[in-house]
Formats: sequence, C-alpha cells, structure tokens
Amino acid sequence: MPKVGFVYDDIFLSHETPAWHPESKERLTRVVSVLRDAGMWDRLVHINPAKASLEDVAAVHTPLYIERIAGLGEACLDPETFVSAGTLNAVLYAVGGIFEAVQMCKARVVNRVFCAVRPPGHHAEADAGMGFCIFNNVAVGARFAQKVGYQKIMIIDFDAHHGNGTQHIFEEDDTVFYFSTHQFPYYPDTGKESERGRGRGKGFTYNVTIRAGSGNKDFIYVYQDLLPDLVRRFEPDMILVSAGYDIHVNDPHANMRVTAEGMRGIVRGILGSSEKPVVFVLEGGYHPPSLADSVRITIEEMLASE
Ligand SMILES: [Zn+2]
Repeated sequence: MPKVGFVYDDIFLSHETPAWHPESKERLTRVVSVLRDAGMWDRLVHINPAKASLEDVAAVHTPLYIERIAGLGEACLDPETFVSAGTLNAVLYAVGGIFEAVQMCKARVVNRVFCAVRPPGHHAEADAGMGFCIFNNVAVGARFAQKVGYQKIMIIDFDAHHGNGTQHIFEEDDTVFYFSTHQFPYYPDTGKESERGRGRGKGFTYNVTIRAGSGNKDFIYVYQDLLPDLVRRFEPDMILVSAGYDIHVNDPHANMRVTAEGMRGIVRGILGSSEKPVVFVLEGGYHPPSLADSVRITIEEMLASE
C-alpha cells in the first residue's frame, strides 16, 4: 500500500473571512469530514505543520510587504482579501506545512502529499496580497524545496484562475517551471499563451488558456496528452501542484464544467507524468461539497498511483 501524506491542522481555520465570503472555513472542515466518512483518514500519513518564520517567507516576498502583513491585525488588502487576527499564524503554518511535506518526501517517508491549507496563495505577488491570497504558499514552498536539495521544481496550477503571483515570481528563473491552465479571459487577466517567461526564464512558463464552458474533455487532453511531454523535457526533481478545485461544474466562482471524471483524469495525468515527489497544495474551490469530493478523488488517485 503506497503511503500518501496529508497536511492539515485546525490552525488553518483561524484565518477568518466575512460570512458572505466564498473562501470559508467550511471548505476545510468539509474536506476532513468527507475523508473520514470515506474511510480514507486512517490510510494517510498525517504530517503536522511547523510554523514557518517571516525570514522563510522572505525567500519570495519583499521585506516591506512582510512587515506590513506582520503588523496589520485586522484589515483588507483589496475588497475581497481579508486579514484577520489569526491570519498571520494560519498562513505561516500553511507555508510550514508545505515545508514539512517537502521534508517528508526528502526523507523518503512519502512520495505524494496533499496539503489541505488556507488561505490560498497563487495570486499573491512578491510585494502584494490579492484575490484571497496573503503569501504565495507554493512559491515559498518551491524555494524551500530548492534549499533542501531539489534543484528543478515544476509547478502545475489547475485552478480556474491564473496564478499571476507564481508566474511573476519565477518568470525569469529557469529552475522553476510554471505550467497553468485557467479560464481566459478572466480574473486576474494575466496568463496569455504568449507569456512564456523572460530572460533566463524564457520557455519556463507555459500557459494554456481555456474558454468558459470547457469541461472534462479539454482538461483530460491537456493533462494526459500535453503535460506529460513538458514534464519529461524539463525533468523536475519535485512537482508542486496548485490544486484549485474551482474548475468544478458546481463552483460559483468560475465557469468551467469539470466533473468527478475530469478531476480524476487531471490527477492521473499529473501523477503519471513523473516518478518524482508530488506535493498538492490546495488553492481555490468554493462549493464546499464539490471541493471535498474532488479532494477525495485526488487522494484516491494518489493512493492508487504507486
Ligand atoms: Zn481560483
């Protein structure tokens, strides 16, 4: 039986958003209860997150921005991006959870991990939070992975929105390959297919724009027929996945039509593309029952993949 790691802690619930806000605590509590009901909870290697430091986050974010977040208390960074009293702690543990996941891979205890964290991260730029995101969890995780010896990192982002922050942070870097599928045109308006990286990073950014209304067929094509070749050519030492489940047909926050079958196909495509460690990190997904079911499917595939 393959070992699949799972990162979760109630501390992630201490990031509070207003009652109307789609990025709610219920997203994670649903995931936990669905995994328990499905009898999967006890089959996972539970990994406790440690708390990352502000210096760790500085691998990606500017000192000025970190200082601002650390001193904020309660505030909003834009009309949709809230910082509550518990946010700093939650996000440092979210980042620290990814660190632990990477270390458990390094120690060969596990080779696939799912990090059920919040707040999400891929919209966060080096010097600004936006789109529900405070720190760019996956980007900080990628730099940490390099620090512990994984040289080439591939970030695969299937969230319905483009990960503008992740792309910008690594666009001049040829050691981190950023691959994204996203609804386009749509928020945040970045991620055109012509954006392929700059300078040394030219050719290490790959955007696939997807039209509103697309579904399983389109995603399965991209993840099973297109992605594996890119992975084989780049030969990453580790894959980090920005796992955004707002591509689900029931999601109120985007217009994709992916169902359980499509989710399974995406995850299979990713897992089948490399033998190297793969760490999934939760990004979007705003219809809690569909989010939780999609995470269950993801973990089912992870358990079956080795
Ligand atoms: Zn999203």
